[in-house]
Amino acid sequence: MSKKHRDRSWAPAPVSLPADAQVIDNHTHVASVVPFSETMNHEAVSKGQPQVPVYSVRELLDQAAAVGVEGVIDCGCELPHLMTAVDMAIEHPDRVHAAIAIHPNESVLHGHRGVPGPDGLPVRYKPWHDVPFDEAMAEVARIARAHPRQVVAIGETGMDLFRTGESAKELQRQAFRDHIALAKELGLALQIHDRDAHREVIDTLLADGAPERTVFHSYSGDTDMAQIAKEHGWYLSMSGASSYKGNESIRESARIVGLDHVMVETDAPYLTPMPYRGRTNAPYMIPYTLQALADHLDMPLVDVARATRETTKRVYGV
Ligand SMILES: [Zn+2]
Repeated sequence: MSKKHRDRSWAPAPVSLPADAQVIDNHTHVASVVPFSETMNHEAVSKGQPQVPVYSVRELLDQAAAVGVEGVIDCGCELPHLMTAVDMAIEHPDRVHAAIAIHPNESVLHGHRGVPGPDGLPVRYKPWHDVPFDEAMAEVARIARAHPRQVVAIGETGMDLFRTGESAKELQRQAFRDHIALAKELGLALQIHDRDAHREVIDTLLADGAPERTVFHSYSGDTDMAQIAKEHGWYLSMSGASSYKGNESIRESARIVGLDHVMVETDAPYLTPMPYRGRTNAPYMIPYTLQALADHLDMPLVDVARATRETTKRVYGV
């Protein structure tokens, strides 16, 4: 295979976790991985390479279960995809639960045609963005109330100043506040998306009062921020990004808050863990992230797996 082309095939499966140390991927986008595997296959075939397996949702869950990833919390965070996550949870009740929200980058588009994007990034409106934000948010609340068995978290919500910039910062903050209020009202965990917005996210949580179970999804803060999280009992969810060489401070943050406040996730199809950064991510890759954490903490892999599994149970009840 030519080194010039990005390798689109599935990365090799990690060594399976033992039966008594199974884990859950607490934040992923399974429905988005299916089209990725189709793209992988098209590219392989067009280059005369062997076809790669194109997995259905069920096969992606089986692929994960085969290495000890017994379940996922699937995140639906665009208005048309809220029910995708919930339907998946209905169809696979033992293996899938749902987190739903209007993503921060989506929240600024709803009903706000004409708000400029940050420099250099064109704003691409989709038909559902004609729905005003308040109506989209009401739909999140309605679905969460109607499906208490499936929906275990409100998220991902928060702030993203990388994609949104100053112009719509206050719209994002208000949307975040609405999600905080809903999570508290329904007694659900909150999954936070924080991109280049650590200070704004923390200030908003402290001003409004954070839900009892507040999770920084794909934690990207430093050790100072981890101290703040520890002080308030917030949880850190480690994605593949925590395995990257330059992210020592993310790994060290796990030590600061302690494994009773740490979980693992893929955020698939992005953020594939080392040593397969750049390949397509899916829930079966979780053991690689656990290994990076175990190496950093100088602990056995199974102990890290069991501890994060217990944390997941405490936070989401699954
Ligand atoms: Zn996500």
